[in-house]
Amino acid sequence: MINLQNFVQAQYAKRIEDCSDKELYYALLAFTKQRSASKCTNDQKKKLYYISAEFLIGKLLSNNLINLGLYDEVKDQLAAAGKDLIAIEDVELEPSLGNGGLGRLAACFLDSIASLGLNGDGVGLNYHFGLFRQLFEYHQQSTQPNNWITPQSWLTESSISYQIPFANFTLTSKLYDIDVPGYKTERKNRLRLFDLGSVDNNIIYDGIEFDKEDIYRNLTLFLYPDDSTDQGKILRIFQQYFMVSNAAQLLIDEAIAKGSNLHDLADYAVVQINDTHPSLVIPELIRLLEIKGISFDEAVDIVKSMTAYTNHTILSEALEKWPLDFLRKVVPHLVPFIEELDRRAKAIKDDPAVNIIDNEGRVHMAHMDIHYGYSINGVAALHTEILKNSELKAFYDLYPEKFNNKTNGITFRRWLMHANPQLAGYLDELLGHGYHHDASQLENLLTITGTKDLKAHLEDIKAHNKRKLQRHIQKTQGVQVNPESIFDVQVKRLHEYKRQQMNVLYVIYKYLDIKAGNIPARPLTIFFGGKAAPAYTIAQDIIHLILVLSQVIQNDPDVSPYLQLVMIENYNVTEASFLIPATDISEQISLASKEASGTGNMKFMLNGALTLGTDDGANVEIHDLVGDDNIYIFGEDSQTVIDHYANGTYNSYDYYQREQIKPLVDFITSDVVRNAGGIDERLWRLQRRLQHEDHFMTLLDLEDYIQTKETMLKDYEDRDKWLDKVIVNIAKAGFFSSDRTIEQYNEDIWHLEK
Ligand SMILES: *Cc1c(COP(=O)(O)O)cnc(C)c1O
Repeated sequence: MINLQNFVQAQYAKRIEDCSDKELYYALLAFTKQRSASKCTNDQKKKLYYISAEFLIGKLLSNNLINLGLYDEVKDQLAAAGKDLIAIEDVELEPSLGNGGLGRLAACFLDSIASLGLNGDGVGLNYHFGLFRQLFEYHQQSTQPNNWITPQSWLTESSISYQIPFANFTLTSKLYDIDVPGYKTERKNRLRLFDLGSVDNNIIYDGIEFDKEDIYRNLTLFLYPDDSTDQGKILRIFQQYFMVSNAAQLLIDEAIAKGSNLHDLADYAVVQINDTHPSLVIPELIRLLEIKGISFDEAVDIVKSMTAYTNHTILSEALEKWPLDFLRKVVPHLVPFIEELDRRAKAIKDDPAVNIIDNEGRVHMAHMDIHYGYSINGVAALHTEILKNSELKAFYDLYPEKFNNKTNGITFRRWLMHANPQLAGYLDELLGHGYHHDASQLENLLTITGTKDLKAHLEDIKAHNKRKLQRHIQKTQGVQVNPESIFDVQVKRLHEYKRQQMNVLYVIYKYLDIKAGNIPARPLTIFFGGKAAPAYTIAQDIIHLILVLSQVIQNDPDVSPYLQLVMIENYNVTEASFLIPATDISEQISLASKEASGTGNMKFMLNGALTLGTDDGANVEIHDLVGDDNIYIFGEDSQTVIDHYANGTYNSYDYYQREQIKPLVDFITSDVVRNAGGIDERLWRLQRRLQHEDHFMTLLDLEDYIQTKETMLKDYEDRDKWLDKVIVNIAKAGFFSSDRTIEQYNEDIWHLEK
């Protein structure tokens, strides 16, 4: 039993009843931190270091209370004093330490690693302003620093500090920890975030601009600073080396403290390299081992037996290749190691497809990971097959035994129990608590007879979550949505391969259709949310078009009763937690072969939305699990797309000229759009892109997409059948628990003791 009243009394010398929500938040922060601080960390011999440039952890108060098994008690004791935990949680600022799916995956993994009692920590950087905060001004994205660190926060300062050598100076790091309590476990894990004491928040001017060369003051200010200039690229190398040198020194120290003689380091530590950002950990570990008296050959063997790499994308722009010249400027001491690793790899096979240093003197980080790690995994079955058969075929021929698949997952603690307490509570009543630890038990939903009651409950829960979202966006954005309408949601980073522009063309189709007198059976609300990289112009253009179209529709009394377009500002974990439980239609419409996995798709399925998607990433596995009748798949398959790229057989202009497509693309630069605040330069650029380039083949699938969405809207009206599909989706979502994913990482790659 806890006694919050006593705790608050000791803190503020007054009763809960007399505290503000803000005071209560800080009291609960201190209370929760104290509870996890009193837990011991894991102490098994071998430990995982999950190194990642991002951890998109979301707000922590409720989640930590759930995992500590205190949520209901705290909620009840607050309620008894007339206070609402949900309102108190509002005070918490969401940590800005991540960008998108890759960072959210790392956060779900930390939760599962801790909940399964495995010995493993996350290692990253403590960015003071993280990823930018997105605002909309004049129908465009503007970017602001996200000042998420408050004087009292989840961060705990440690006494750990390392010297990090760079070309002309050495920096002294400082480690902060965030505790990660597992779900109802004895012990805790940690997220280890390195920082630099000299970083100066005051060097930022005009939004997110700052002096890129002042490393001493800027190093941990931002996640993913603009790298469209050489200075930006060099700063990213500074950040990456700072991250991995700290991680490497930490893991060596911890191993030695547990009795390692370093020859046996691989018995004490395993490193998971999350995407290519931490790849410099490989030469850095070799360098540090050599300094400690281990021969180069042995150091290479040790590192080869303790590092594993996860590939998250086949988009070439995202596979980092750093010019050797830049590495010489930042970390000259590492360059001879990289050159020697390259020479040895070339001795095995000298082929541009597998070389570490290419003819232009660039270092291919992924290539270094694959040569000098013992495992490379893709993040969904299709993605791993594409890596083996096309993207990384030359590597697969060389090292078939290193390749393996680990289909991504999500933690149900956050994405069901926290985000959708109504559904979780109802499932508890129906199925018991077994699924909390073993998500496959959700399948028992399919054995429930007399589904009439079940369906009525699911309808009520969805309606409740729609009203909750309605109140939320009324409050945050002043926008009123119709909770009786169908909620159709596409929320994710803005990127042409994700094809938000295809959904926008559907909106134009629907707008014109309603103008032509075809009144829908039920109103439709289409939500978008997502940030665009500041240097990615076309993605900004797409946001602009969404914002202007939203205005066009709102201003048109013929259309606005039936169709609404809403762009959610600053999409993050908090917004996702409101949106996903309220969704009917989950938009997963990437160009087949391009979305490595996706994890948004899994969150929506678990929360009872039906997927409208292409056979891409983990959609393929959702499709396999639920069957053709319970998902809406459209578009060309990945092989067809890959062949189009290989043979240059896709011509967007041919598609543009089709009768159904031309009016939609032309509408982008129509007077209707231009007069609603449209910016000519943006609109024309986007239109030309679709007509003449369309690198991600939007128009290829557009007609099928429109038709499939129309079928879906019609099917929505048969509530009985729709809910049959919803039940199958929830029941089959168990496979996508990140507990399953982490069990597989551990079985196949990490081999940590339980
Ligand atoms: C899950 C999640 C993502 C990833 O979404 P995808 O649809 O898989 O790209 C991105 N951002 C946030 C805030 C998320 O919660």
